[in-house]
Amino acid sequence: MGLGSFFKRNNDKVEESHIEISNADCNGSSCEKCVIACPNNVLAKDGDDTVVGNAFACKHCRVCEAICPNDCITVN
Ligand code: SF4
Ligand code: SF4
Repeated sequence: MGLGSFFKRNNDKVEESHIEISNADCNGSSCEKCVIACPNNVLAKDGDDTVVGNAFACKHCRVCEAICPNDCITVN
């Protein structure tokens, strides 16, 4: 499982956020849709796993969540 923490701004508050990837359901290197789709290069391949490479670059757009065919990714 890949897990990354970062902080997001919500109006005037800064909140801790997380990206969670369930590698048990991930199609791994045969997919890579989330890695390619992320506009901020947050996600990366690590062997057959998909991992959070740079959580601090995440802008909380949730494109990765939407594009994953197996619902592996949760951004909150
Ligand atoms: S929420 Fe957006 S910026 Fe963050 S990892 Fe997913 S696609 Fe990338
Ligand atoms: S889009 Fe989903 S299934 Fe595809 S590599 Fe990313 S987490 Fe894995």
